[in-house]
Amino acid sequence: MNMITNHLPTAELQALDAAHHMHPFTDSNGLAAKGARVITRGKGVWLTDSEGKQIIDGMAGLWCVNIGYGRRELAEVAARQMEELAYYNTFFQTTHVPAIALAAKLAEIAPGDLNHVFFAGSGSEANDTNIRLVRRYWQVKGQPDKRIIIARKNGYHGSTMGGGSLGGMAPIHAHGGKIDGIVHIDQPYWWGEGGAMTEADFGIERAKQLEDKILELGVENVAAFIGEPIQGAGGVIVPPATYWPEIQRICDKYGILLIADEVITGFGRTGNWFGSQTFGIKPHIMTIAKGLSSGYQPIGGSIVCDEVAAVVAEGGEFFHGYTYSGHPVAAAVALENLRIIQEEGIVDHVRDVAHPYLKERWDALADHPLVGEAKLVGLMGSIALTPDKAKRAKFASEAGTVGLRTRERCFANNLIMRHVGDRMIIAPPLVITPGEIDTLIERAKKSLDESYAGLK
Ligand code: PLP
Repeated sequence: MNMITNHLPTAELQALDAAHHMHPFTDSNGLAAKGARVITRGKGVWLTDSEGKQIIDGMAGLWCVNIGYGRRELAEVAARQMEELAYYNTFFQTTHVPAIALAAKLAEIAPGDLNHVFFAGSGSEANDTNIRLVRRYWQVKGQPDKRIIIARKNGYHGSTMGGGSLGGMAPIHAHGGKIDGIVHIDQPYWWGEGGAMTEADFGIERAKQLEDKILELGVENVAAFIGEPIQGAGGVIVPPATYWPEIQRICDKYGILLIADEVITGFGRTGNWFGSQTFGIKPHIMTIAKGLSSGYQPIGGSIVCDEVAAVVAEGGEFFHGYTYSGHPVAAAVALENLRIIQEEGIVDHVRDVAHPYLKERWDALADHPLVGEAKLVGLMGSIALTPDKAKRAKFASEAGTVGLRTRERCFANNLIMRHVGDRMIIAPPLVITPGEIDTLIERAKKSLDESYAGLK
């Protein structure tokens, strides 16, 4: 076989890919027929594909490349760390400097008394850790029946058995099932499910479902509630302003643990270090991944409050961990990424470019005939495609067809924007400039026009 490099013709790369590479969340029949896009380089917010096209990445990869592509500092730190100590584990009373330094840094930037970090290799793994952590917490406290975790329909918490079970996505449960002890309440999605209610009332009503569910299950059986501050993979569903304060009140009232899944909303995405700060949430545990290393290395974790960490410690050894928990290269790279976010004021930059610059332009997309609501918090936005704005109607055609077509128009116009059903979403690298925002909006409008023209 020839050496497989960027220099092979695209068709050849695609054929090898379809023959040997099983892709996540991809229809392999489509892959064989159409071939995957081959991405070869990244710089800032820009990607280059194997045909030399320059594509603006409106999704920061999978919501993760917060500091943008191609930062040499991270490559240098990784190379140095690999030479010095490429790997050692953190099991059995052992540690190393990158894991110590990253845990201490996270304790410094995380709000409140979230001072302890359990490392994982990804967001899914971190959520699996959380399931065991909250159950262990109640066991040590002498309440082993408190095992049930309440989550939301259309939430996303990963695709391991634990993460996929916490998530409320039926197609994921349909492939391989769901673990026991996890129940789902409805999501706070006003545009799609709010009917005639005001957003404020709907937010309260959906949060109250948590209280009803706790009472139905018995508080003595409920360990925790988990939610994303803004549902990302569910379609960038921004909850009504009334939602999180009511969820917080209910968790406090019944003394159940609150887990904020910050895998997308962490590390500046919403204009604060964490989405919990944007929404006034005080979690006992935060799930982190993605922006922690800006995707330069696979790393995730759980940031845990003093009380939960102390109780779990009181129980002695916690029989849980991953070979790559606190991996030294990943930890060193994440630390350098956090240094860049902090020293370059990237969280402030998000606030500066998002409000009002991007927000004005994003909200104006709602004037397009195909667009109903436009939502944006920090650099995380969505638009709902609809045949009838006033009725907040859904397309009668197979769910997601118009969204899929719009996404394809975006690709054709060298813009990566994702669709979730008929919602189009963006989460660009946080370093995006006003000029690049103009390009993104221009290409989005053109794609919407083309998609709309195809409807008639
Ligand atoms: N939690 C949330 C909120 C996510 O958006 C994701 C991934 O998109 C995950 C968890 C899973 O993270 P990973 O894909 O790193 O396992």
